[in-house]
Amino acid sequence: MSRPSALITGGAGFIGSHLAEALLARGHEVAIIDDLSTGSIKNIAPLKGDPHFSYTIDTIANAPLLAELVDGCDVVYHLAAAVGVKLIVDSPVYTIESNVGGTEAVLGAAAKKRKLVVVASTSEVYGKNNDVPFREDHDLVLGPTTKGRWSYACSKAIDEFLALAYFREKGLPAIIARLFNTVGPRQTGRYGMVLPTFVRQALAGEPITVFGDGTQSRCFSWVGDVVGALVDLVERPAAVGQVFNIGHDSEINIADLAALVKARTGSASEIVYIPYDEAYEEGFEDMPRRVPDLTRIIDLIGFKPTKNLDQIVDAVIDYLKDQ
Ligand code: UDP
Repeated sequence: MSRPSALITGGAGFIGSHLAEALLARGHEVAIIDDLSTGSIKNIAPLKGDPHFSYTIDTIANAPLLAELVDGCDVVYHLAAAVGVKLIVDSPVYTIESNVGGTEAVLGAAAKKRKLVVVASTSEVYGKNNDVPFREDHDLVLGPTTKGRWSYACSKAIDEFLALAYFREKGLPAIIARLFNTVGPRQTGRYGMVLPTFVRQALAGEPITVFGDGTQSRCFSWVGDVVGALVDLVERPAAVGQVFNIGHDSEINIADLAALVKARTGSASEIVYIPYDEAYEEGFEDMPRRVPDLTRIIDLIGFKPTKNLDQIVDAVIDYLKDQ
């Protein structure tokens, strides 16, 4: 029997490279495409010698190339996107165009060949909804278009609408994965992600920068658990045409996260508070809480996170110490 084969767009990114590893470990053939806009060749360096792994450094806007790659696989994991709140605030045109255009291109190519597609979406789509835990059928509560942050949620919501439209109208098998704050080795703080930023600051003895008053909360999930869930979903026909939250449901506020990182690194760094206006842009709106309801994914694949927050933070510390 031939090996199942997967294409990962954004495969040299943080989550994409972990997904590639997980699929190879399960005996799949893996091809990735990445334009290295936020991904890094270093992320896939250990995989390059694997005869079942191939990589293409190009953009998914290259339609003939994308068509050929899609043709050669059984399933497409569409992870290529502009990510990170900082990037979104700094480069809104790029964010909107690449998120919407990229997904359009992938869904179009997959529809021609009727290939199963997993679209990576984000918990950002829930927006300012305070009704936690967030269930997949909850309303999305976004801020005004004058506040750039919401363009990310909106662009990903359009991606979801489009994937579901392809499913309903053209019979394209598509699964939508709403990823909550995912962390682990290879994630960089360059695009604003809080955990690698705090750990780097703590290890360097620099101030740990809490934005706002630190009461905003998040739930952090281990990248290995997230990619495992993506692979499991693909094996369940019942997942097709559905939206799934993927993440951890234990919540921590950002001030407590800073204290936790400081304690676990044994750092003497001071914890400083920076107003949102200074950290991002004038009038920046944050999401106060973000907690997933995991009932749907637990019911379908028996999803169970393997690491708690202390273990996750320690793993990130170990990784960044080695860098
Ligand atoms: N944050 C922070 N200090 C930083 C980076 C981020 O306090 O140096 C906060 C950010 O304002 C948000 C939370 O940490 O409330 C998570 O931010 P991140 O960008 O990691 O992900 P988000 O959940 O906003 O997508």
